[in-house]
Amino acid sequence: MSNGGTPFVVAIIGAGPSGIYAAEALSQQTDVPVHVAVLDRLPVPFGLVRYGVAPDHASIRSIRNTLERTLEKADVSFYGDVTIGKDLTIDELRGAVDAVIYAYGAGADKRLGIDGEELRGSIAAPEFVAWYCGHPDVHPDIVGALVPEQDGQTPAELIATTAQAVVVGIGNVALDVARVLIKVPSELDDTDMADDVLDSLAGKTVTDVHILGRRGPAYTAFTTKELRELGQLSGVDLVVDPHDLHLDPSSEAVIGQDKVAARNLAVLTEWAARPATGAERRIHFHFWTRPVRLLGIDRVTAIEVERTRITADGYVEGTGDTHLIDTQLVVRSVGYRGVSLPGLPFDESTGRVPHSEGRVIRDGSFSLDEYVTGWIKRGPTGVIGTNKSDAVETVNSLLTDIHDGTLSASHDVRALDTLLAGRGIHPLGMPAWHKIDAAEIERGASHGRQRTTLAHRSELLAAADES
Ligand code: NAP
Repeated sequence: MSNGGTPFVVAIIGAGPSGIYAAEALSQQTDVPVHVAVLDRLPVPFGLVRYGVAPDHASIRSIRNTLERTLEKADVSFYGDVTIGKDLTIDELRGAVDAVIYAYGAGADKRLGIDGEELRGSIAAPEFVAWYCGHPDVHPDIVGALVPEQDGQTPAELIATTAQAVVVGIGNVALDVARVLIKVPSELDDTDMADDVLDSLAGKTVTDVHILGRRGPAYTAFTTKELRELGQLSGVDLVVDPHDLHLDPSSEAVIGQDKVAARNLAVLTEWAARPATGAERRIHFHFWTRPVRLLGIDRVTAIEVERTRITADGYVEGTGDTHLIDTQLVVRSVGYRGVSLPGLPFDESTGRVPHSEGRVIRDGSFSLDEYVTGWIKRGPTGVIGTNKSDAVETVNSLLTDIHDGTLSASHDVRALDTLLAGRGIHPLGMPAWHKIDAAEIERGASHGRQRTTLAHRSELLAAADES
């Protein structure tokens, strides 16, 4: 029920697309006055739009402009550089606002669970992506400080010594990684990649990228636009074995029902028929192929793979037919995984926060002031736009609860600021982001580029400080 003017104070944890779309949905409705505080542990907003979308996908990255407009609204405030679970507990935050929406994404990677996975030269795609997007966690101010177990295996060091790379998984992230690995460095100059990332990529020696799909070509997780993009790379042959494209009855059924799968198969079929041009670089697709173990002593030297088939009940099983692919770099692109926040209900088996239509379930019943949206709600699936409808569902639940009187406004909009100030925590707001933005544009201009990402936390904080 509307409270006649005192705004409901809603804190959103996570300033990525899911959190900002939730802020937008709250801000756009006119039934209930709302003030939205969007918090992020990073000094800058935009989450995966900045640190996940491939830098050579400028049009998708430009979604940032829309997200930025939401953060600029009078009833929305950005609180950067505030870590819930460290600076404030969840309960402390809940004590300062009327409702909390968790939108902190899926910050970890799934594991393969095979021998050799920890070898030097084996790296998770989320980390590799974070590196080429200039994420401060993988560009620590003291090199190796945040990933001590990976000393000496920064992505930069690895790609400088890799000719044959393997990417495990056949989703869109695998395509992003393959593209960044195979493109000639000059094709990445017009991105906003950080200086040291571009310098590292300039020294790369990758000639072959092998993409492994544990199931057949009917079961690709790519979107067709992204798949086709590989076919437009100059100087790269695409190698697809026509035998891999043979359809068993279950694959045929999938192709009959799933238009994206059918389109992907058509693209792959066309590539399988293309004669090799003798190009210096190649992307090889290996379907019905799963990794068994990584070999090497102090660095990956090969991956053992096994031919697979699909069982009558739809499971993948190995055929026992194995062989080795020589490689110096294995990027495990098998999906992201949600992690728990201290004090928040969490389902380890799904990597998600338990909920119904975005209402968090705590101890078997709905928590009265907690909601969830984005990857931590539904799992790491969908494209950026999927988060919009997801956020609308969650915000509709919250607004319904206000109308039903189960959620009421009892907090001053300044309570969160007072709490943070009392802890000596100084959040970075949109003025700080504008200074960082200007510094990135200036850094880019000095090298004839539109923008250069500041990858180190110290650089971001220094830019935010400049008056
Ligand atoms: P994804 O789409 O879930 O793909 C994961 C891939 O890993 C699947 O092919 C999966 O095969 C495979 N896999 C999982 N476990 C495996 C194992 N143990 N061994 C071998 N293969 C395994 O994940 P993603 O590529 O990380 O992408 C995450 C989300 O972001 C997706 O929704 C994606 O569309 C989106 N995204 C979109 C764009 C874009 O629109 N341009 C770009 C990047 C990401 P199975 O199917 O057999 O499990």
